[in-house]
Amino acid sequence: MKRREVLTGAAGALALGGCAAERQECASGEAVRQITWKMVTTWPPNFPGLGTGVLRLAKFIDDASNGRLKIKVYGAGELVPPFEVFGTVQRGAAEIGHGAAYYWKGKSEAAQFFTAVPFGMSAQEMNGWLYYGGGLELYRELYAGFGLVPFPAGNTGVQMGGWFNREINSLADLNGLKMRIPGWGGEVLRRAGGTPVGLPADEIFTALQTGTIDATEWIGPYNDVALGLHQAARYYYYPGWQEPGPVLECIVNQQAFDALPKDLQTIVEIACSAINDQMTAEFTARNAQSLEQLKADDKIEVRRFPDEVLRQLRALTDEVVAELVAADPVAARIHASFAAFRKTVGAWTEISEQAMLDVRAL
Ligand code: CA
Repeated sequence: MKRREVLTGAAGALALGGCAAERQECASGEAVRQITWKMVTTWPPNFPGLGTGVLRLAKFIDDASNGRLKIKVYGAGELVPPFEVFGTVQRGAAEIGHGAAYYWKGKSEAAQFFTAVPFGMSAQEMNGWLYYGGGLELYRELYAGFGLVPFPAGNTGVQMGGWFNREINSLADLNGLKMRIPGWGGEVLRRAGGTPVGLPADEIFTALQTGTIDATEWIGPYNDVALGLHQAARYYYYPGWQEPGPVLECIVNQQAFDALPKDLQTIVEIACSAINDQMTAEFTARNAQSLEQLKADDKIEVRRFPDEVLRQLRALTDEVVAELVAADPVAARIHASFAAFRKTVGAWTEISEQAMLDVRAL
């Protein structure tokens, strides 16, 4: 083990010196070109699952490229505020960013399809659509208009519906509620009489504790406990109708991406795909552990939204999406692909995952 570390260290030192003996570049006398990218993210530095996942992504790229492509990661607020990630990568002030497409609905309403549509698709189904159902092509086409290349790079799986200090027994209980909830979920809440608020992760706990907001959704047990949300609200509702399988994204400045040699482009793409799987696996494992902790806490009640509330939220969602599709031809094209895939995959899910889960509960 020691000997291996010594050897690795020696190889590392050589690479940093610009000449690893086994490299062809060195044999031909050329220096090894090292590229460093700045990466800005919407997540608090080192935040469990999200921030740490991004650090793992950066390490994959560094290791797989043998140090030729280094990614210096900045958490939210370290270089730019969280909601400036898109613009920062777009103008090239950072080459790469990590966040979620629905944060950029101010730039393009249609971007939200690539994170989550309420009552839409699970993580597995979203991956099916993106990688093998035409979704990724549409995603790339949309972002090309902003000079960005997007990659799916993480998925939290089904989220929780959120934290409330009042019981939600009917849709009327959402009336007057000020809640942190992004994307279309927020618009649906507005139509139910509530006030959606957009807040980045690091501001949610204080807002809920001080009563600036009445309720919040964030992700699931693992991350919600990390923010301390269980200390500021009593009722923890499920399911996360607003985000059934939200995709996290990596965005790369088009010019920076085009300037990479082909092998480094492929490394970036494969690293994003790897972290897409890894994050989902981590969320699955750690959400389960944190849920046990919450269930053992008698100050917390884990509750299911009543069916009638979910039915009405679903009807409002259909209304919101239909209005956008009627007004925006780009959104209409993406929606057509999304809706067709959901219908097809839904029939398969019903007799595969869903049937298996139903049977398991017998
Ligand atoms: Ca959420």
